Amino acid sequence: MVSMKYRCACITLKGCRCQKSFSFVCNKIRCCTIHANAYLKYVLTIQKAYKGHYCRKYVRLLARLPCDIQRRILFYMREPLYNARINKRIQIILCKKFITFFGIPKHTGSNFASVFIGNYRSSILTMNKAQFNDHVLLIAHLYKLYTKYLTISNVDCNYSLYTISNIVKRDIQECLYYYHHSGEPYLYTNAELLVLHKNVFELQKSINVYNFEYKDC
Ligand SMILES: [Zn+2]
Repeated sequence: MVSMKYRCACITLKGCRCQKSFSFVCNKIRCCTIHANAYLKYVLTIQKAYKGHYCRKYVRLLARLPCDIQRRILFYMREPLYNARINKRIQIILCKKFITFFGIPKHTGSNFASVFIGNYRSSILTMNKAQFNDHVLLIAHLYKLYTKYLTISNVDCNYSLYTISNIVKRDIQECLYYYHHSGEPYLYTNAELLVLHKNVFELQKSINVYNFEYKDC
């Protein structure tokens, strides 16, 4: 039992003296944390006024500074907001790129990868040699971009890109070995084949880097 000297002076709903010890003195009455709630309205008004006064002090200080320094201070204050905006734009651009190559990404409860297996192979098999080479370059670039912006890019895109990475790697590799060689129908020159092989190698490297980073984060 708290001694009378330290007890809250308020009367409870049952008509008894409050049993708790006091934490505040409001309007010359000792109050515990519960009974001090009655003064919340006044407390908030005082706090609001004080915060306003405190902020205006700094605004007045800022107004007295030369405008180039003002701008610099404002930039630092708004930097998180600017960054968030830039990140959002990057995420939208990356998402669009993903959709143009692979379709709508899905994270859970879907058969994105199983639908993808059939569609992707037939889409790259119908490409001619220029289209195929460009495709390899673009996909390698896409994986590089997603590695760079892994932390800010869309979760669904990241996950989908990870789950289809082995299919992409395998299909492109097979397409390269069974269709894109110096014989019919593409008739590659040695130089062209060399470039294509180099690009496919780069693609595989960027996919491996992506998978490594994805598992890490
Ligand atoms: Zn009380």
